[in-house]
Amino acid sequence: MLNSTNNIKIAKHFRLSEFSCPCCNRVMLHPKLLGKLVELRNTLERPVYINSGYRCPKYNQKVGGVVSSYHCIGLAADITVKDMELISLLEICENIDFNGIGFYEKKNFLHLDVRPTRRVRWRE
Ligand SMILES: [Zn+2]
Ligand SMILES: [Zn+2]
Repeated sequence: MLNSTNNIKIAKHFRLSEFSCPCCNRVMLHPKLLGKLVELRNTLERPVYINSGYRCPKYNQKVGGVVSSYHCIGLAADITVKDMELISLLEICENIDFNGIGFYEKKNFLHLDVRPTRRVRWRE
């Protein structure tokens, strides 16, 4: 696999490679998810780090993701923002209105998704 695979600028502050599966470099990314992440990045005016974007089914299983994970269809991303309280980040994400938001307090990241169903919130 070439290092430059997916090294494509898809928005001012995001590259496609940031969303690709770490095991195989495959990637799916819904424009609605990217749009909301861009909105978040613009609101924060600081880098948004994508911990996990697309996951192939094999990788998703390896990291213990749920079988029908939105990560496997390009609708979800787990994010962190340096030097920012997770609770403050959560508030901003609520305003941007991601349909799914998971608040992972101990692991210190937020799961964000643009699922087509009703709004879902959870905390771990
Ligand atoms: Zn993979
Ligand atoms: Zn997630």
